[in-house]
Amino acid sequence: MFIPTTKQELDQLGWQALDVILVTGDSYVDSPFVGVAVVGHVLIEAGYRVGIIAQPDVHSQDDIARLGEPELFWGVSGGCMDSLVANYTATKKRKWADDLTPGGRNGRRPNRAVIVYANLIRRYFKHTKPIVLGGVEASLRRIAHYDFWSDSVRRSILFDAKADVLVYGMAERAVVELASRLKAEAEIDDLRGICYISPERKADAIELPSYEKVAGDKRAFTEMFHTFYRNNDPLTAQGLCQQQDTRYLIHNPPAFYLTQQELDQVYEMDFERAQHPFYERLGPVRALETIKFSLATHRGCYGECNFCSIAVHQGRTVRWRSADSVVREARRLVAHPDFKGYIQDVGGPTANMYGFECQKKLAKGSCEDRRCLYPRICPQLKPDHGPQIALLKRLRQIKGVKKVFVASGVRYDLLLADKQHGVPYLREIVHHHVSGQMKVAPEHVAERVLRRMGKPGAKVLLRFRELFYKLTQAIHKKQFLTYYLIAAHPGCTERDMRALKRFASRELRIRPEQVQIFTPTPSTYSSLMYYTERDPFTGESIFVEKEPVRKERQKEIVVGMK
Ligand code: SF4
Repeated sequence: MFIPTTKQELDQLGWQALDVILVTGDSYVDSPFVGVAVVGHVLIEAGYRVGIIAQPDVHSQDDIARLGEPELFWGVSGGCMDSLVANYTATKKRKWADDLTPGGRNGRRPNRAVIVYANLIRRYFKHTKPIVLGGVEASLRRIAHYDFWSDSVRRSILFDAKADVLVYGMAERAVVELASRLKAEAEIDDLRGICYISPERKADAIELPSYEKVAGDKRAFTEMFHTFYRNNDPLTAQGLCQQQDTRYLIHNPPAFYLTQQELDQVYEMDFERAQHPFYERLGPVRALETIKFSLATHRGCYGECNFCSIAVHQGRTVRWRSADSVVREARRLVAHPDFKGYIQDVGGPTANMYGFECQKKLAKGSCEDRRCLYPRICPQLKPDHGPQIALLKRLRQIKGVKKVFVASGVRYDLLLADKQHGVPYLREIVHHHVSGQMKVAPEHVAERVLRRMGKPGAKVLLRFRELFYKLTQAIHKKQFLTYYLIAAHPGCTERDMRALKRFASRELRIRPEQVQIFTPTPSTYSSLMYYTERDPFTGESIFVEKEPVRKERQKEIVVGMK
């Protein structure tokens, strides 16, 4: 079922008013891969009447007012990405293409969409119901954060948007509880997974240095980020608070993760896997090409690459769906009128983190003082690709399925560490689940750059490469590896890029094409390095390329013809 976006749909449903109106910076695509659609369906399942307004015109009331005013709250999201990441390249040039805007032309999502939409609501609805922020943009800007686009430390977005509540991380549990409390006119102060504004600090919360302090003191900003990062696991986190102006941001501990049964229910809700017809008439969205017939098997990531924000947004504990649930969803794909037999992806943030977790982490939370994969794989983790092999086999056997691809990136160090099922897993992938090329993301090969990224070394990559081609040649298939690489990460010089180029041609025997310039997105350790020009773990001063022309040159060294 599509969530209504027009007055006619409300009339057809017999809804006089809505409890919740969700406003988003993307088009409305009804898919389990789109956060606003997931939150909308979860609230409807819980008995609330929900509508969606996508990419509203910010210069008139035509869109924002078309569903009236909600009875409980407005939910505001920038969309699946931070709006500035969506609108600009890593060298701050305007992006013209947009995979989540009808017609693919980027012209509907304002910069700092969350702030703009909150202001838009207040412009046309004075003294309205609470404005609740959510989604990636709000989640990763929830405390004082470095903002690359203004090259400054900004306050919590909750203050800049003048909103009432911010739901962070994966929002299902917190948003349903929030709706229930607002309906009952109950207090929300102790609700996990939210931030709110208070005139005073919270007695049992850790007090972070104030916004004013961290905005002018890089050392204090670094300490603040460590404390924030450590207090991100629902089993161990304490609440935080931070003075922003005269008032305080209160950051409650994260919501508890969904159980497997709850996760199964979320992904088996009634998604249309299409763009709502109201927006489809404006043009197709490209994102659907990759998500329409894909299956999400798990959430969370303990890879903790320093440039990635998934650990902060989704958590370091991987939660996975039951194989039965994934298979049921696959059967529904087969019944879809547009399905041609191809499942485009089976995966999550990292394809091969399905079906196993560290028992210590599940019982007591993530370790504060070490990482699960870096600098070496923790012996407590015990990788086991058995459950994923079994799942892929079941998916292949479904009548109507011609091919199942694994397009999400595979973490090859994890694969090689699984002595029992690692090689059989790769064999399965090579035999059945590669569409000509398999993506891997070494990101770099120079040891000192990899150390700043928190990524495994080049030796593991070469071992994996050898194994991949051995298995591929054994079945006489023409398949190859594509390598995702990053230029201009903090600590990376032109010399490092030349070393990467040499490695690529001599060892990998390729001329790389997939090279991205590093973007310092909010709330990552790499962004902290970019801003402070120091390694936050050792305090060492590091080289950081900040000139756009020289960033481009780093990329050109690797992709160029010479
Ligand atoms: S014990 Fe090891 S695998 Fe488990 S949470 Fe700690 S670092 Fe990660």
